[in-house]
Amino acid sequence: MLCSGFNVVGFNWISSPAATELESIVLDWMGKMLKLPSSFLFSGTGGGVLHGSTCEAAVCVLAAARDKALKELGGWENITKLVVYASDQTHFTFQKAAKLVGIPPSNFRLIETSFSTGFSLSPENLRFAIEDDIKSGLVPLFLCATIGTTPSGAVDPIAELGKVAMEFKRWLHIDAAYAGSGCICPELRHYLDGVELANSISMNPHKWFLTNMDCCCLWIKEPKLLVDSLSTDPEILRNNASKSKAVVDYKDWQIALSRRFRALKLWVVIRRHGLANLMYHIRSDIAMAKRFEALVGEDERFEIVVPRKFALVCFRLKPKVEEEDLNCKLVEAINSSGRAFMSHAVLSGIYVIRCAIGTTLTQQHHVDALWKLIQDKAQSLLM
Ligand code: PLP
Repeated sequence: MLCSGFNVVGFNWISSPAATELESIVLDWMGKMLKLPSSFLFSGTGGGVLHGSTCEAAVCVLAAARDKALKELGGWENITKLVVYASDQTHFTFQKAAKLVGIPPSNFRLIETSFSTGFSLSPENLRFAIEDDIKSGLVPLFLCATIGTTPSGAVDPIAELGKVAMEFKRWLHIDAAYAGSGCICPELRHYLDGVELANSISMNPHKWFLTNMDCCCLWIKEPKLLVDSLSTDPEILRNNASKSKAVVDYKDWQIALSRRFRALKLWVVIRRHGLANLMYHIRSDIAMAKRFEALVGEDERFEIVVPRKFALVCFRLKPKVEEEDLNCKLVEAINSSGRAFMSHAVLSGIYVIRCAIGTTLTQQHHVDALWKLIQDKAQSLLM
């Protein structure tokens, strides 16, 4: 309400010093909560910006990585040589972003994952893919590693992938859209180990951090690369503050010129709840997910397909040969009841039902009621 009511249009520092300065401050607060190295913070040598979505953040960092690489290679004609790497669990938004910045879709490598690695990206397989491409005359550009993949919450091994990215001098981006919020808790922070090897990292407070849509934090070690790629300098926007280079002009850190006062909502969330309450929120969601997982485990008709990650449980009715699409029918029955909405994923060909606890108002009794609904619908189906 405040953000809409004030209607600040802060494209550069001079148009709203308050919106700009507050954004830099909350990005540093958030970065410190996640214990990001100072190389990502304004108080260190990097900086952060608020985007509306991970997709926008991905387009911007890919553009920065692309332009840096093309400069090194000597020209735009080399764009068809650039290759982007991700796992087959990486959010599809990165494929869209790569296409948008001109990377040929055939140069997007989706490296296969499996149950054996818990659906995380294997550094060895990444190395094989990179070496193959180099042999074919292509140029590795960018690797996206994920902390908390969308289908199952899998975590890629950042430290090991970071070493491969460094060896080949490629850009490493970490997508922590969903699970990044969890990393404010000391017991989950280890998932970010190795973040110091990344060039950029993003997470969405609008997913699991009590923040309303839309809010995506992007931190980058060398903001200059983003600005080199995205800046525009029309006469109408020239001013002494920008000329001094002592201020941040966020229009050069994003796609659009105009921007909302998003920092205000993250500021309100952090000030209103405080770190201890935000950690409590994450932990209580995880406790509810653990309880849900235990309930599933107690019912012999069901099974947990992959071990729970964060507050996401992937489960299914045990397969019966004569009824292959039983789980799909179960999801349809739950959703058409109008009482709950569940989504699914397919992991190595296996259809799984996803139960993700994470919205602001979810309480234990909602989760218990959901489980009862699932059991009732399963009972009818099995009969
Ligand atoms: N990355 C991950 C891991 C996600 O789970 C999602 C959304 O579910 C996204 C990226 C896409 O985020 P956005 O809608 O902000 O582009």
